[in-house]
Amino acid sequence: MPTPPLASGPDALRPLLTEVLEALGEGARARGGPLPGGGPEAVAERLRAAVGDVLPQEGDPEALRHVVRALAEGSADPADPLCAAHLHCPPLAVAAAADLAASVLNPSLDSWDQAPAASELELLVTRALTNEVYGEPPRGAGNCATSLHLPAADSDALVTTGGTESNQLALLLARESLGAGVRLICGANAHHSLPRAAWLFGLPDPVIVPTPTGTLDPTALAETLTRHQGPHLVAATAGTTDAGLIDPLPEIAAVCDTHGARFHIDAAYGGGLLFSETRRHQLTGISAAGTVTLDLHKLGWQPVAAGLLAVKAPQDLAALHQRADYLNADDDTEAGLPDLLGRSLRTSRRPDVLKIAVTLKTLGRAGLGALVDQVCDRAREFAELLDAHPRFELYDRPTISTVLFRPAHATDDDIAATRRHLLTTGRAVLGRARMDGRLWLKATLLNPHTRPDDLAALLKLVEGTTPR
Ligand SMILES: *Cc1c(COP(=O)(O)O)cnc(C)c1O
Repeated sequence: MPTPPLASGPDALRPLLTEVLEALGEGARARGGPLPGGGPEAVAERLRAAVGDVLPQEGDPEALRHVVRALAEGSADPADPLCAAHLHCPPLAVAAAADLAASVLNPSLDSWDQAPAASELELLVTRALTNEVYGEPPRGAGNCATSLHLPAADSDALVTTGGTESNQLALLLARESLGAGVRLICGANAHHSLPRAAWLFGLPDPVIVPTPTGTLDPTALAETLTRHQGPHLVAATAGTTDAGLIDPLPEIAAVCDTHGARFHIDAAYGGGLLFSETRRHQLTGISAAGTVTLDLHKLGWQPVAAGLLAVKAPQDLAALHQRADYLNADDDTEAGLPDLLGRSLRTSRRPDVLKIAVTLKTLGRAGLGALVDQVCDRAREFAELLDAHPRFELYDRPTISTVLFRPAHATDDDIAATRRHLLTTGRAVLGRARMDGRLWLKATLLNPHTRPDDLAALLKLVEGTTPR
């Protein structure tokens, strides 16, 4: 076999792109729905048969087409309107195209000499998104002066692989600032990555405040803070994974203030509301948090990974400082080469900012806000449809774009079986959530192309699947 061509240079890549696009199309047609049919063993068997020996002695020049086709055939398709289980968004074409450029250029954000422009682009993106969190709110588009934010004094943000890494860093920064005795206090509605991060860093056992209404009650929080010795890190959630609920941020901020607790907000889901002129008020109070988790591979339509951690006091980041002579020798830094190593716990690091930068600039705040509004509007309409439907029960009106519902008179076991039946037949992908002590079907609407008809069809499908 001749030495295979490198990705740089359009001549090598162009024919391969055509092959990839054809294979993606063939695979999707073969699947014919939101999920491959037949269940895990059948899907695995088809994949094994299509791929064959994954490390043959002699290479296979057709591997790209065959493996991509097999993966596409066996994939869950977040762009299918009936694929609505998780915070798993359909990526924008422009973001995926930018991500291809990131793979070709392959900058690595651990030293300036591997990422001269990407490091500056990361600063631009993190500054812009930090301002969404901590800056003055944008003026309305109708306001003549400008729609630019006033910059946040000197807050900063780190790019992460998602909400989990952002939450981990938030706990680490709290530990570095308050000491190893810092105790995490969060609601039972918080994401599992928060208590897990406390375990990872060997912090005291977290205190989990029960959340019977679905959100963290400020009075219950205040009592918990009184009962347990500090220092404390309080974590609130803006957009719970199960129900899309938003904790009362200004009230929680006030409780943290009174008790001298550090405040973190996990806005992995709800952070996208910042882009919507009509919905950003739902995040009022967000700027009170010392750290804020954002995740643009949810309400930001990015391919994974696209996480951020906004940090109000940039001096907190000094804790991540690291010196490695081959990457940021003192004399290089003194001579003006930017020091990137302290902006992550990772060393080699993909330029995930490229797709984010291209998306922000292509759509603008208005374009992104319109996508957020579309999925939230669709969720509201779906809830209205359910509320009016005699055969379904609605949990509550959606706060963001998650709708919980159950077939009336069905048992929890029926509901679990219905969900699995839809998965194994490949006809619809719905999630599940336990609220009120009962099991609910969960539709997380993240596809701006979903139409009301699609959701009516989804209900018909669920109705036809639920045992009577
Ligand atoms: C999805 C989610 C996370 C985890 O984010 P990943 O990107 O999957 O690591 C954390 N918190 C909340 C509230 C989430 O919904």
